[in-house]
Amino acid sequence: MTAGTMLRVEGLGRAFGGVYAVREVNLSVAEGETRAVIGPNGAGKSTLFNLISGHLTADQGSVHYRTGETLHPIDRLSAHSRARQGIAIVFQGARLFHGMTALENVMVGAHARTRHGFVAAALRLPRHHREEAAIRADALAALDRVGLKEWAHRSADVLPLGQQRALQVARALCARPRLLLLDEPASGLRAGEREALARLIESLRAEGLTMMLIEHDVAFVARLADRVTVLDLGEEIAEGTPEEIRGHDAVLAAYLGQ
Ligand code: ADP
Ligand code: MG
Repeated sequence: MTAGTMLRVEGLGRAFGGVYAVREVNLSVAEGETRAVIGPNGAGKSTLFNLISGHLTADQGSVHYRTGETLHPIDRLSAHSRARQGIAIVFQGARLFHGMTALENVMVGAHARTRHGFVAAALRLPRHHREEAAIRADALAALDRVGLKEWAHRSADVLPLGQQRALQVARALCARPRLLLLDEPASGLRAGEREALARLIESLRAEGLTMMLIEHDVAFVARLADRVTVLDLGEEIAEGTPEEIRGHDAVLAAYLGQ
């Protein structure tokens, strides 16, 4: 049964130094779904995202992703190929490029998906001018989409943390993702900034973008996620709606260490 499924992870495993960071994880994410992934520090959440995006290779299991009408295995594809197929990731604690404007920061991300890359563009080889203009237009549209249009030509260094996170999302959106992975985008944000980020995620969800979101705050998760996957010690210990998860004994035990 693949109809409506965007991503299917089966028996996924990855060990570091003989210790499993992710073990036997199975999950399916529906098209248009927002899936939260929660769990204590070290549970394997970031590793799971990196296995899906291809920034880490799996030791076991498989990842299937929708292209066209059906799901296809993407295990052999590089992170770059997966990005070109629409899997975008905002890494935990992702940094901006210093000394660049907000627009330039987004454009650097956008160049990653082009054939010639950023170096060719930076050298301003003539045949890249048209591509450059298209990327610039995409980057401006992405900045506008996250509410940062006015910041386009200002140094990214002076952006408040909330807007830095929005800029990371803009960079990811510039690749026109069909699956967006957000690894703790709200960490360290103040209440007002969290609210702005929640609204941005809500608006992407309303547009039908499929997302996976790592987040600790249960209220934030309950507001944004259709379903929640709970990891502990690399294994999936529960999955359900936010309401189902809230009263789950194993989840409480994992968080409270009982
Ligand atoms: P989470 O994101 O849930 O906090 P991680 O996926 O970052 O957890 O880490 C899961 C486990 O895998 C941890 O024990 C961590 O130390 C280990 N780990 C993650 N990445 C690496 C790595 N590159 N090398 C060695 N160990 C790692
Ligand atoms: Mg993490």
